[in-house]
Amino acid sequence: MRLYQRDTEYLIKEPYLSRGRGYFNKGKVQIISVNESESKSKVVGSTVYRVTLWYKGPLLDGECSCPAFMYYGPCKHMAATGFALIYLNRKKYRSSVRSEHAGRQVCLKRLKKQIRSLLQ
Ligand SMILES: [Zn+2]
Repeated sequence: MRLYQRDTEYLIKEPYLSRGRGYFNKGKVQIISVNESESKSKVVGSTVYRVTLWYKGPLLDGECSCPAFMYYGPCKHMAATGFALIYLNRKKYRSSVRSEHAGRQVCLKRLKKQIRSLLQ
C-alpha cells in the first residue's frame, strides 16, 4: 500500500506523531507484510506491539495492540509504522527509477546491435 504523509498526519495527532518518528528513527519498527490495502508491523516499545494500518476508502485507519490505543486511539506505534512505510515507498520509488533507467540502456544496446547487423 502506498502511504501518504498527509494521511498519517490526518489519522495520528501530536505528540504521537513526533514520538512515532523517534521510534522509527531508532529502528524500532519491523514491517511484517504489506499488500495493496493493508500493512502489518511490529513495534518495539516497553514490549512488542502489533500494528495494522489499512485504507478504508480514501481514509487511513488502523489499530495497535497497546493499551494507549484502547484508551486514546491512534498511537505512536501506528505513527512509527506510518513513517516506516513512507520511507519504504521512497526507497522503492528510487530503485524502480534506477532499474527503469538500466532497462532503457539494455534496450538501446539491443537496438544498436540490430542496426549494426542491418548495415552489414
Ligand atoms: Zn500503540
